[in-house]
Amino acid sequence: MGHPSAARPDRRSVIAGAVLLPTMSAFPRPGRAREARPAAEPLLVGSSNALGGMEEGHARLVRGEPGLDVVIDVVSAVEADPEDTSVGLGGLPNEDGVVQLDAACMDGATHNAGSVAALENILHPARVARLVMERTDHCLLVGKGAYEFARMHGHEHVDLLTEKAREAWLRWRETMSTRDDRLPPPAGKEDEKTGWIPGLGDPAADSFPRHGTTHCSALSRAGDVACTTTTSGLAFKVPGRVGDSPLIGCGLYCEAGSGSAGATGRGESAILANASSAVVALLRAGAHPRDAGLEVMSRIVEQTRLQAAWQPGLLDEKGIPSFGLELYALDTEGRFAGVTLRGKDREFAVANADGARLEPLETLF
Ligand code: ASP
Repeated sequence: MGHPSAARPDRRSVIAGAVLLPTMSAFPRPGRAREARPAAEPLLVGSSNALGGMEEGHARLVRGEPGLDVVIDVVSAVEADPEDTSVGLGGLPNEDGVVQLDAACMDGATHNAGSVAALENILHPARVARLVMERTDHCLLVGKGAYEFARMHGHEHVDLLTEKAREAWLRWRETMSTRDDRLPPPAGKEDEKTGWIPGLGDPAADSFPRHGTTHCSALSRAGDVACTTTTSGLAFKVPGRVGDSPLIGCGLYCEAGSGSAGATGRGESAILANASSAVVALLRAGAHPRDAGLEVMSRIVEQTRLQAAWQPGLLDEKGIPSFGLELYALDTEGRFAGVTLRGKDREFAVANADGARLEPLETLF
């Protein structure tokens, strides 16, 4: 048997492409990435909670503003909204009652990205993610380091736990077990405070919704793509848990000449499928965003059936994934879609020449 290195190509031939090129040519050419063309029509696509800033955002794209500036402003409004309990201020906290935020942004024109995870006490994590992208040679900062970085760049220290979110967390603590010493208040007036979370505090309910995030993707007038995703993550998560939102390729991804995608819902599934980069890879190969989203969702269903061997609760009684997951996508042709794993009356937000509006998500189940 010869020396193992004998079978390997030498470095020079790899660099010259002599060895890699035949293999690579079997895949769809990423050459479109270098051909950013003027867009027929500027476009924004995202989660339904991003709708508020989309009309103005679209007008800015029409005026020729860069997509990254626009998407970050669109989600900043959601981060600052205390009524949205899944993002930024007012986001539901972790097990310890601490709001920990995850966010990322990506710019197709420079193929660069930045993100922050488990960031506390900073109102605009998506803006900090952009600073990571533009003012460091890194992609991801976490926890205390991310906080110090944000403070260094002038972001204020903010208490993100609203009274409403604190009440919900308290009720969760008080009702999570009958074997501890915490007692919820008697049913009645107190419940009005957290009645906005269906099932929370109701011992008869199996579970309650723990998801929520905001995503926005843009196609600019110049034909460039950009995206951002920002979240407080799963409600009452294990401290330090990081979801898909700040992970490039999982909670968001874009590529010049191909398109942009993002995810909301159970982050672990989006991580294990590298969901957003999987969607963009299909866009690159020419798939319609709807078909790309549904194809990746189908893969996630197959993966979930494997995962259910050790985590049966991931499937419902019909063998369908029991959790929520949504994918949003646009391509550089101006085509777009939002798809959901399950649920019939779900919507996503879109803005183009026909206006800013909610449209129904395509559903797999
Ligand atoms: N994807 C987010 C996460 O897993 C949560 C969500 O969108 O509901 O952190």
